[in-house]
Amino acid sequence: MNAADREVKHRADKAFYARCIRQLKEWGAPTDGWRCIGINDVREDDRDAPLSSCELCGCAHVRYEHIMDNDLYFEPVTVGCICAGIMEGNVLAAEERERQMANRAKRKRNFLKHKWQHPWRGYWRRVYRGREVEIFESGGRYTARAGGRAASRYKGRPITDFYSAIYAAFNLADPVEDIVCERNR
Ligand SMILES: [Zn+2]
Repeated sequence: MNAADREVKHRADKAFYARCIRQLKEWGAPTDGWRCIGINDVREDDRDAPLSSCELCGCAHVRYEHIMDNDLYFEPVTVGCICAGIMEGNVLAAEERERQMANRAKRKRNFLKHKWQHPWRGYWRRVYRGREVEIFESGGRYTARAGGRAASRYKGRPITDFYSAIYAAFNLADPVEDIVCERNR
């Protein structure tokens, strides 16, 4: 990038920043004090799933939804990476969350390929990152267990097939909260 390009980019960034701040003010929302309380990969289970839109700047190409919360605002706001960074005053932190989510998506693809031990009917187990991960089935209902937590629902629905049980097991064994809460804890 030459100096002229950098200057254009810098001005664009400044204009973008100003537009985001203006939008917050129009909503009557605070311009600082925001923190990320969740991050969602809209293509986590389906690589062709439609992308999301940023509620602040309107960008329609958001794969990772950053859920931003503020004690002085009545509801969380779902935005893309740069807007999240502007809201929390730290674009690098928002970019780092996305990088970690991309790594987690890779780990999930590997997790799905991995074989499970199946010592007896209705029970599967494997070790992931040094932790035991288990799946139980009884009467067509599955429960996943890892790291001292259990889940019998996935994305709000009871788990009735082995693949959803694997997805639920991954969420327990490699929780998104580890990425989101790193800075907020
Ligand atoms: Zn945005």
